[in-house]
Amino acid sequence: MIEIIPIPAFEDNYIWLIRNQAYAAVVDPGDADPVMEYLQQHDLKLTAILITHHHGDHCGGAKELSLHFNCPVYGPRREKITATTQNVAENDIIALPDVGAEFHVIDVPGHTRGHVAYYGINSLFCGDALFACGCGRLFEGTPEQMQASLAKLAALPDETKVFCAHEYTLDNIRFARIADPDNAALQERETRERQIRAQGLPTLPSTIALEKRTNPFLRWNDTHLIKAASQFAGRPLGSPASIFAAIRQWKDKLD
Ligand code: ZN
Ligand code: FE
Repeated sequence: MIEIIPIPAFEDNYIWLIRNQAYAAVVDPGDADPVMEYLQQHDLKLTAILITHHHGDHCGGAKELSLHFNCPVYGPRREKITATTQNVAENDIIALPDVGAEFHVIDVPGHTRGHVAYYGINSLFCGDALFACGCGRLFEGTPEQMQASLAKLAALPDETKVFCAHEYTLDNIRFARIADPDNAALQERETRERQIRAQGLPTLPSTIALEKRTNPFLRWNDTHLIKAASQFAGRPLGSPASIFAAIRQWKDKLD
């Protein structure tokens, strides 16, 4: 049976560990130490590392882990990451027979130029592209790119579990409630996520269905969001990319 376990790192990162019997894979190991500790405690052999993008909090521990376990490191072809041993891009399929999983690579540029996401076993590992009720900042890409990337993720099956790399949910909800104040599903989500955080538990994984209902960065077709984004921009907005861009700017201004 496959289990997916969050390993907390730094302030608010999650390194996701996929385990099956004695084997494991990890996604975005920014720090090797907590991963090594978990693997040793549970007597697991690491057989693969997946990296979504080049930021240090996602790949900083990859080299050490791959040398120790002599395992491959899958990373985006369009980014220079020294730990990467297997370059991947959209339409590639990664077979991990030891953990009994297969992942499809999806290009999701926007946060960084070459950012990828991994989709398989009904789960999406999306790094800093899509967050619970939010999305990554546009450090290297354009709003057009990011909106197109998020549209690809939104098109995945509703029941897909969303494993983002940071615990940003409550902060993101604070902004979402400003942009989308009348959304009942969002209000319910806020209540639920607050309870979860009060118990010190992760709010992840989320699901694609929940994100489509409550994440303002996926709701460019919703009349309330179109109106709110247009008000922020001071002119009527029509295209999904322009609505997304205004909402992203709005949140950046308040952060
Ligand atoms: Zn990042
Ligand atoms: Fe990050």
